[in-house]
Amino acid sequence: MYYKKITFIVLSSLLLFSCGQSSKDNNKNKIEKINRDDNTDRGERPERGERPDRGGKRKYEAVPTAPGKATPLSAFNEFNPKSVIISFDGDEITIDSDGHPNHTTPYWEDTDSLYIEPVVAIAQTPGRIGSHRDRSISLTVPASPGLAVKSTSTGLGAIGISVTGVPIFNDSEGPGRPLEEEIAETFDYAGGHVGPSGYHYHSESMDVPANTTLSHNDEKLVGIMADGFLIYGRKDLDGSYPPDLDESGGHIGATQHSNDEEFYHYHIINEYYFGNLIVLFGGDLKGSPNNIL
Ligand SMILES: [Zn+2]
Ligand SMILES: [Zn+2]
Repeated sequence: MYYKKITFIVLSSLLLFSCGQSSKDNNKNKIEKINRDDNTDRGERPERGERPDRGGKRKYEAVPTAPGKATPLSAFNEFNPKSVIISFDGDEITIDSDGHPNHTTPYWEDTDSLYIEPVVAIAQTPGRIGSHRDRSISLTVPASPGLAVKSTSTGLGAIGISVTGVPIFNDSEGPGRPLEEEIAETFDYAGGHVGPSGYHYHSESMDVPANTTLSHNDEKLVGIMADGFLIYGRKDLDGSYPPDLDESGGHIGATQHSNDEEFYHYHIINEYYFGNLIVLFGGDLKGSPNNIL
């Protein structure tokens, strides 16, 4: 029992030092949840945002899936070749990225050619892109991902990799802490900021002249999620908002990459989180999640 208490104290201080801070009461709840997670409750789905941040490396468990359609390979031509290496290996696709975006942001070191003065950010989180720390991430997914028998909630850390090579995060900042206005004020026009694990995106990019590549209210490819499904902008190929999305933003349809072939993919859901903020992915993963290492 004493040993457990000590573990709780260690975990609770870890939680306090992760991406955000939560209130003491909140933390107490989180710690109780972790206790359950760490014991036997393996089959139980954790609540969204409550998975503890263990050094940024998630341990998802594989979920059985139905057979899926092949992901159209031409989609991978959209990834930023300066930061991302795509490897095709029979049944699997691996996306390796150094985590560095190919667009301007005030989160670059001010000596970098892609550094700009803030366009939309009112405040900035500490830390800059391009410092010596290794921010590389790697995701291996099936070439034909299928829908899983049950969906999996996401937690802290990367839940997908954007076409720019930057990790995609969900709609929480720290354990159980949803994105709040004061956090959103630190987002650059790309919907990103720097946290303890480096630069990452939470929200759709904004419509400003500095934004020349990222998806904003259109059908562009946004990236690939941890379950191997592609995620596109808010619109379908015909310029309309897809009316048949599931609660994670997914549906079966054709995209600009699929030659009229229909396959399951996500869209950014056309819904404001608050103000003019639209989160990239706030739902559960519908396929079997793979760890982003
Ligand atoms: Zn963040
Ligand atoms: Zn679609």
